[in-house]
Amino acid sequence: MSVSATTRLLGTGRTRILDSFKRISVNMSSSSASCGKRLRVLVDMDGVLADFEGGFLEKYRTRYPEEPYISMDDRRGFWVSAQYGKLRSDLYEKAISIWESKDFFIELEPLPGGVAAVKEMAKMDNTDVFICTSPIKHYKYCPYEKYSWVEKHFGYDFLEQVILTRDKTLVSGDLLIDDKPDILGVESKPDWEHILFTACHNKHLTLGPSQRRLQSWSDDWKAILDSKRH
Ligand SMILES: [Mg+2]
Repeated sequence: MSVSATTRLLGTGRTRILDSFKRISVNMSSSSASCGKRLRVLVDMDGVLADFEGGFLEKYRTRYPEEPYISMDDRRGFWVSAQYGKLRSDLYEKAISIWESKDFFIELEPLPGGVAAVKEMAKMDNTDVFICTSPIKHYKYCPYEKYSWVEKHFGYDFLEQVILTRDKTLVSGDLLIDDKPDILGVESKPDWEHILFTACHNKHLTLGPSQRRLQSWSDDWKAILDSKRH
């Protein structure tokens, strides 16, 4: 057989394999389409699943018992360090020292109902759930401890569902449940609808008419998911 004939045969074979693959792909997509579009939910970690504010206040008061502190009721604004800095300028660095310390992130307590809700969400039909979290730039402990926290509370297999990113606008999804009021990045029109998870620092904010909140994990998160299903 000539080289060109062999090439033609191999070429034909490859075309047949590609055709078979396309048929399988079409079958797979049509069967999933018949069950409805899959919903992709991104769930933030700090302030949504892990009690960042509670963990911070406890460790800050233990380390700096003589210094003034801000109670959960008096917290305003997303950035803890900014509010401490306004209280007294040197408290800005003292606040940051807390979450830059070893064991801060791994020792955060889960917020009530969050772990159970996400586990239930992950088992729902046509639903993909990812934990989408931004590590701090002081990376010595935080990224390791975030993975470790997920393994501790969700199990090893759930590590597949972790997205660490400093820019959540680049991640595609239908919903992003997050306690940060303004989630900005290079993508000006992210795919997801941001659901503001209520936290001590954001509960006084008035949302725009099209914005929605999840008050806590006892709130009706299933209704929010259902509202995005087609
Ligand atoms: Mg958060």
